[in-house]
Order: sequence, then C-alpha cells, then structure tokens
Amino acid sequence: MEMQWVLVLHALATLLVVVSLLCGHWPIFEGTFIERIHFFITVGAYDYLTRFVITAFGSRGRHLLFSVEHYCCERPNPILQIFYLSIVGVTYYFIAKSSFRYIPGYYVDGSHRYLSMVGVSVGGLLFLLTSFSDPGTVNAENVSQYASAYPYDNIIYVKKFCSTCKIPKPARSKHCKICNRCVARFDHHCGWMNNCIGEKNTRYFMAFLLWHFLLCLYGAVVLGLILACQMKQHKIVYILTTYYGIDSSFYSLAPHISQWLLASYNTQVLIIAFLTVVSLLLAGFFGYHAHLCLTNTTTNETFKWQDYVSWKTKLNEAKASAAALKASLAGGVVTAPPGGERVEKMNAYDRGVLGNLGEVVRPLSERAPFSRGKKRA
Ligand SMILES: [Zn+2]
Ligand SMILES: [Zn+2]
Repeated sequence: MEMQWVLVLHALATLLVVVSLLCGHWPIFEGTFIERIHFFITVGAYDYLTRFVITAFGSRGRHLLFSVEHYCCERPNPILQIFYLSIVGVTYYFIAKSSFRYIPGYYVDGSHRYLSMVGVSVGGLLFLLTSFSDPGTVNAENVSQYASAYPYDNIIYVKKFCSTCKIPKPARSKHCKICNRCVARFDHHCGWMNNCIGEKNTRYFMAFLLWHFLLCLYGAVVLGLILACQMKQHKIVYILTTYYGIDSSFYSLAPHISQWLLASYNTQVLIIAFLTVVSLLLAGFFGYHAHLCLTNTTTNETFKWQDYVSWKTKLNEAKASAAALKASLAGGVVTAPPGGERVEKMNAYDRGVLGNLGEVVRPLSERAPFSRGKKRA
C-alpha cells in the first residue's frame, strides 16, 4: 500500500476515534458503531484494564489504579491543560516547519507568519484567563448577595444548605466535588481548563471556544491557499489536462490533484483535515453554549430540567390514568388527554436575549447593586 493511503487511513481512524469519543453518546448515534466505540473508550476499555490489573497484580494493583483514577477524575489536575498546550504547540510547530517556507506566496501574504503567532498567543491568553480566573466562588462573605441576585424558582432550585462549605446554597449554584467549593451560576467543571465554568468566567470560556474555532478555520484556509499556490506554481492543472489528457471538469481532476497533494504535501493535508475536524467540533460546542447563554440556562440546569420534565410527565401520566380509571369505573366519559398534561420548561432567569447576553458579558456580581448589597451586609 502506498504511503499516502496509509496516511489517509490513519487520518480516517483518528477522525473516527475523536468523533466517537466526543460525540458518540449523542442521540443521533444511538445503536450505531460510533456509540459502541464511545462506550468502549469511555467505559469498556477501563473495565478490561481493571480486570487485567486485578488478575496480574492483585489488590496492590487495584489500589494503585484507583489512586490514579481518583487523581485524574476526582481531583483538580493539569493533565488536560498540558494536553491542550501540547496539541497547540505540536500543531503550530508542524505548520511552521512544513509551510512557513511557502509564505509569502501567490495567495498568501507575508503577514500571516506573524498573524498566526498573534492568533495562537491570544488563544493561549484566553486559555489562561479561563483556567485561572475565579468562576464565582460562593463563600460566607458573598452568599447573601448571590442569594438575592438569583432568587429560588422553587422548581429546580429550592432552599438548600451546603454541608461542606457550611453556607446556604444560592439558586443556580452547585458544589463542585472536584474543586471542593460552591460556584455561582455553575455550568460545569471543565477538565481542559482545570477549573469550574461559572458566573464570572463563562464569558472567557465562550471567547476561548469562539477564538479557537476561528483559529482552526483560519489555519485550514491559509494552508489550503498555500497548497493552491503550489498547484499554480507547478502548473498541475495544465499538466494534467494538456499532457495526460484529463478532462478539465472538477470531478475528473479532483482524484488526480488529491493524489498529487497527498504524495507531495501530506503534512499540510493531514493538518488541514485535523483543523477542519477540530473547528467543526468547536463550532458545535460553541453553538450549544451560545444557545445556553442566550436563553440564560446552564449545562447543569439543562440536566436538572430534563429530570424535572421527565418526573413531571410521569406524574401527569399517572394522574391522567387514575382519572381515566375513576371515570370509567363511574361509567362516565374520559375527558383527560391520554398522555396527561404537557410539561413546559419555565425558566425564571430568562431576561430576553439582550439581557441574557449582558449577564454573561457583565456578571451580576460585578454590577453596582451586588456590591451595594455587600456593603449593607
Ligand atoms: Zn459547597
Ligand atoms: Zn470545579
């Protein structure tokens, strides 16, 4: 098998693993082999590893494995942060090494050498800002301000007390077991940032996602233009059509051009494929979080609403069945709908699109009424 096809197969296998790992649990992949790969990577492989370690090393091996698992999954750790920095560093290194010599080119201006550096640096800055900023830690000093900023809706949030922090839990907050603190307007604990995403740093997290999506897209487009420039310089289309007699239509030329690119510029082609896949994933992730921000919901609340709607629907169905049974026993006509009353999500924190966006950009804890409440308290 020729080298370029090995590279293509390698790229496809990587794509399959990345998509399965990140998206395999999505409902659209239910029952497919992508879901099975996701299950194997996230649960099955670890299960086999545990069995192997216990068989080979006994209880000492099991204890070591559980300690590693505890450190990696249940305690703050920089593993994914190091992984992120390595991916960015290695990708940028390969781009610079393989493609900077073609800049400036016919389609690519010389400024892209520096623009790319600025782009990566801004990405790194947003990463640091999200990783090391306060997500909105709730403590004894600010708990009353947070409690008045976010009133209980008495549906998904009722008055509760955090037994670990020894403070009342304001609505929309959650105690992060990994960071061991209560976080206001808690979204999720992000392993990549080694930090919670909450009331104060959702804006940096969103900026990070949007910037990295644009950065990957920018990288893929500029590398594509470099390859287009190489094709022009080597007169590939002219040679194929004139000397090899290939039809000048896109469908006739595409396989030959792809083969030439894979043989001569495989690093650039692989990086373009990688950047395209990552940018698509980032676009999906950013779109999902943008929808949450615009509707003033959090990832944590999405799960809470799912549980509430499912519980309430079952309750309504049970009520409707009981009413139908009662009516039929009394010999009357059944008027209640068979599925029971439809359950609607009533988000008490929705302030309209602009208001919701404003709360992300300028968190409530950084506004005057919040600090005035602090002085009074
Ligand atoms: Zn707590
Ligand atoms: Zn956390």
